[in-house]
Amino acid sequence: MDGYRNSLIFALALAQVAGLAPGRSWALEQVTAVDPRTADVVELSGKAILEAQDGGLVLATPDGALHKLPASRIRSRQSDQQPFRPLNAEELAAKLLGELPPGFRVHRSKNYVVAYNTTRTYAEWTSSLLERLQRAFIAYWRKQGCDVKPPAQPLMVLVFADQAAYADYAKKDLGSAVGNVIGYYNLDTNRIMMYDLTGMQAFGGGGRGSLHDITQLLSRPEAEPLVATIVHEATHQISFNCGLQKRLVANPYWLSEGLATYFETPDLASSRSWSGIGAVNYSRWDLFRHNYDQGKTIPLHRLVADDKLFQTPETAVDAYAQAWAWNYFLIRWKPNEYAAYLKSLAAKPLLVEDSAATRVDDFRRHFGELAELEAEFYRRMARVE
Ligand SMILES: [Zn+2]
Repeated sequence: MDGYRNSLIFALALAQVAGLAPGRSWALEQVTAVDPRTADVVELSGKAILEAQDGGLVLATPDGALHKLPASRIRSRQSDQQPFRPLNAEELAAKLLGELPPGFRVHRSKNYVVAYNTTRTYAEWTSSLLERLQRAFIAYWRKQGCDVKPPAQPLMVLVFADQAAYADYAKKDLGSAVGNVIGYYNLDTNRIMMYDLTGMQAFGGGGRGSLHDITQLLSRPEAEPLVATIVHEATHQISFNCGLQKRLVANPYWLSEGLATYFETPDLASSRSWSGIGAVNYSRWDLFRHNYDQGKTIPLHRLVADDKLFQTPETAVDAYAQAWAWNYFLIRWKPNEYAAYLKSLAAKPLLVEDSAATRVDDFRRHFGELAELEAEFYRRMARVE
């Protein structure tokens, strides 16, 4: 199960969207709007990164969130000439503590602000894991020739002590799926939500131990899929904040999800880095091979044309495995084409969905004819072990 939320679709008059001229200095907008989830009236202050002709807005707020505000929800709007300034770590910490129930504290590391109500040790374990992942991720894509850099402001992570408190908070994002999702990245708020895995029943329900105990517990084979989920979600967050991918443009699922699964296998034993980036992700590979042997692989055209297979519970796991295989193949054997494709996606306009034909054309332009590429893909993947 995956918590990555693609939220391109909303009620802005998309056909009438007018982008802002580049080089314009940002005025600060003060907007009063109705929150669609709670129907509360909220005051927002930020920069308009997109304006629709009917008055709808996408507002970027200093905490890194993107608010999609259809005209029908905007009550008032005023601009002033104050410059837009992203919140620093201290200000982000204060904002999180102001929003969360009592009992939360904040752990800050170089690139993360972790709000938690579990042990401080677990928060430290989490930020250490994510710092290592981020460092490795950036080093990896630089080596691949991509223009990536550390995020402009620290990334926010919420760690709840247990599943119940997490589910209570997360249900407004996930609805009834909350029971199956152990962590997720929200593209709108730009935050990751998760809970303390060492408190789970599967691990005896209460191993609140030292850093050594946590590492021991989460290095066990039965913990692997749980930790992989955290890493998967953290990879989405890093990817959308280091310049590799852009939020609110038409990112195909086969690409975003395949990229996250490519990084999913953590090497917890290594304190230095993710030495295993680019290694075969065996849980995805096994399923891919199994489907191949059964003659049930997903044709490339179907994977590329739309996101349906990823959004349907019955087909999602197979689609993720197939997406892992394709990203593995493309990153390994077509690295320059892959980097150029990523760059072209990041340059797409905000909130414009691509048709199936456009998606397939974009793919073909970067990687060549589908049939030919598919033949090479199966030839090469048959030799992976
Ligand atoms: Zn994902």
